[in-house]
Amino acid sequence: MPEGPEIHRAAAQLRKALVGRTLLSVGGEHPATAGRLDGWVGREVDAVEARSKAMLIHVGEQVLYSHNQLYGRWTVNRATTTPRNWKRSLRVELVNDQHACRLWSASDVMLMDAWEVNGHPYIAQLGPDVADLRTTVVEVRAHLEEARFQRRGLAGLLLDQRFLAGVGNYLRSEILFEAGVDPSRRLGHLNAAEKDALAEAAVAITHRAYLQKGVTVDQDTYDTMRGLGVARRSARHFVFHRDGMPCHRCQSTVVHGRVGGRRLDACPTCQT
Ligand SMILES: [Zn+2]
Repeated sequence: MPEGPEIHRAAAQLRKALVGRTLLSVGGEHPATAGRLDGWVGREVDAVEARSKAMLIHVGEQVLYSHNQLYGRWTVNRATTTPRNWKRSLRVELVNDQHACRLWSASDVMLMDAWEVNGHPYIAQLGPDVADLRTTVVEVRAHLEEARFQRRGLAGLLLDQRFLAGVGNYLRSEILFEAGVDPSRRLGHLNAAEKDALAEAAVAITHRAYLQKGVTVDQDTYDTMRGLGVARRSARHFVFHRDGMPCHRCQSTVVHGRVGGRRLDACPTCQT
């Protein structure tokens, strides 16, 4: 399942293909939008944005909301390319003179007015979106003080989109490693310096994953690991999918754990 950086990259791709261009045709078969987007033909797309895992496409005062859940996927092709024939149903299709953008399989799609966006049940409950390059450490640090999170364990908390939006499974392991904190600790037990480190790590690691296409280590480390024949899924991270391998910082063996049925890898020495 894509995490925040991947959704924000998809948004950037759609933005490049759609914003400022006039829509020549609009289609798709989702019941929430079928026929209701006809008024978009002849109009320009004003903005495309991601909010955690939701995609928002703005045309005038209207916003097309979609959440990919497990199977949804946006594709961007040249307008002249024949759409792929695969086992996915076409939900929404937006075509201009250059590009055809298509949403496949997603079931959570709706058309709303711009003023309704912040009140949408999914969007209203989101914490700061750390995959958004505009999100700052100060904003995240302030959110870490909210009383409702203090008794929660970090491992569960980091996958809660109300805490930090945009964080998924690989980012959880990587942020906790970068912050130097043990996943089993509760947020409220961290001292101020540890909370500072967590806020800084959440922003730095997630922004890096966005800019480096899912790579959370620095480019040199990644290139060195790839050169040594390490698989991409391990080479791109500090600890995630690196269990049994030496930590890049201290050489201790990275350990594998599972929390809530999902992989959580950590360095027993660097994370305390
Ligand atoms: Zn280490």
